[in-house]
Amino acid sequence: MPLDEIQTELGSDRRVLSELVSELNDRYRHHSATDVFRGALKDGGEIALVSSFGAESIVLLHMAAVADKHTPVLFVDTQLLFPETLAYQAEVAERLGLTNLRVIRADQEEIDRQDPYGALRLGDTDACCTLRKTIPLQRALRGYDGWITGRKRFQAGTRATMEFFEVEDGTGRIKVNPLAHWAPEDVRAYMEENRLPRHPLVAKGYPSIGCAPCTSPVKEGEDPRSGRWRGQDKSECGIHFVDGKMVRIGEKA
Ligand code: SF4
Repeated sequence: MPLDEIQTELGSDRRVLSELVSELNDRYRHHSATDVFRGALKDGGEIALVSSFGAESIVLLHMAAVADKHTPVLFVDTQLLFPETLAYQAEVAERLGLTNLRVIRADQEEIDRQDPYGALRLGDTDACCTLRKTIPLQRALRGYDGWITGRKRFQAGTRATMEFFEVEDGTGRIKVNPLAHWAPEDVRAYMEENRLPRHPLVAKGYPSIGCAPCTSPVKEGEDPRSGRWRGQDKSECGIHFVDGKMVRIGEKA
């Protein structure tokens, strides 16, 4: 039974979601990332792809274009991104023919109130990420049954057993991770085989790309994400929703 029917009938009860997720994981266990992506669109209800249009985003964006060009693609523009990211976003969306791109931004009133000079990040990066990324994204995801992420098992020990389909705590949504089992070589191979355009900053030493003030180039041999919030005890956006409440977690995004 598709997720939207289950939720209509029984509400977004975690047990029901868990059963659905378990069923989807059983069904797609030995399938490819592309199959999982298509399966999420077919069997997961209303599903959106969340994309930063960063260094590796093109893989899932390409899968979306192949599966269904009208797949909702949510792009969070923090208004502190690199100009290269904005140009790349426009170029990729046009080249792939994506027809349902939604640019998500924080409420201007909230920006004016909390961060009128764009300096909130200097004193509190978590508060800045919450204002400019987490809250706008959570708001945009209302009405969706789930969302597709680019998370991979190799990126963190806490993701070592991550499945293709997961229950997102406290939101009544599922998270879909088609690339869960991919290694860095698989990402590179997919981009080469499909001749996909790379983010222009990758060639300039940025293997992981976020907001301009919080991203620096990475030297040979460094962890690819070491250029994010360099020098700070922070490795991801900092605030997530668990059981309907905002919490800070230490997992790399
Ligand atoms: Fe603010 Fe930096 Fe987070 Fe971007 S990455 S939202 S600039 S703290």
